[in-house]
Amino acid sequence: MIIDGKKEAITLREKIKKEISELKKKFNKNPSLSVILIGEFAPSQIYVSNKEKNSKEVGINSEVIRYPSNISEDEILKKIKELNSDENISGILVQLPLPDHINKEKIINAIHVSKDVDGFNPINVGNLASGYNSIVPCTPLGCLMLIKKVEKNLSGKHAVIIGRSNLNGKPMAQLLLKENCTVTVVHSKTKDLKEHCSKADILVAAVGVPQLVKKDWVKKDAIVIDVGINKVGDKIVGDVSFDEVKDKVKAITPVPGGVGPMTIACLLKNTLECFKARLT
Ligand code: NAP
Repeated sequence: MIIDGKKEAITLREKIKKEISELKKKFNKNPSLSVILIGEFAPSQIYVSNKEKNSKEVGINSEVIRYPSNISEDEILKKIKELNSDENISGILVQLPLPDHINKEKIINAIHVSKDVDGFNPINVGNLASGYNSIVPCTPLGCLMLIKKVEKNLSGKHAVIIGRSNLNGKPMAQLLLKENCTVTVVHSKTKDLKEHCSKADILVAAVGVPQLVKKDWVKKDAIVIDVGINKVGDKIVGDVSFDEVKDKVKAITPVPGGVGPMTIACLLKNTLECFKARLT
């Protein structure tokens, strides 16, 4: 089974659009997402314009606040403070990466926990790790939804996650623990990487190494989720050798068209959740 992330993302966006339209009728308000974009980094420009387009399509008011790359950290912090106290703003996102002179940690920490649609604020991270309700980072949230399309009950499954970034690997591990999986996280210092991966019922690759995972790394009938986005020549490939792995496993996400579309759809979902939390 090839997991069609594009199709799942369309279904999720339709659901979000419907809910926003119903809330609009009841409260005469729409969710609002403010995105801060610093500098001219080309991939960030593309990500932000996709986020803006997708937000508008579902009824989220989207505002992109652009700054030149030499903007001071204080200016950004001042803007975040202003957005934090604006009752009309449901969610705030600062597009990463940031220029070197801006402290990422300070910026992320400045976003109010209730508007942190990326789920990167340490309070949201701590809540997730404690098993409490929290805003969950968009990519792992999308991955979990795709896994659950294949298998609803994950209890007792052995999940192996390649990568331990705050963005992907760590929150993915927390989500799968919450689903009662037995979780192994492997990384660049892990010995016998292949050995670990070959025991996985669920394998999530969030590495950034093109086609690292080969056919003999995966267990027969595993569910394989490929988070990687790697440019090789003029092609985009994942962290998994898709062509050789796809016939051995139960389900696999393609790249492109797998996890990527779900990431943006989950950003819309998080923005809607932040909006709803302010209505009550
Ligand atoms: P990251 O911060 O660079 O983390 C990569 C992780 O992989 C690290 O934990 C690193 O280990 C580990 N690693 C690197 N090389 C390895 C190797 N040879 N063997 C085993 N582990 C290795 O990357 P990230 O932000 O999590 O992103 C990972 C990939 O996902 C990238 O391709 C990125 O473009 C993609 N991505 C996709 C989406 C989407 O929506 N689909 C969203 C975000 C990111 P150490 O910790 O030991 O260094």
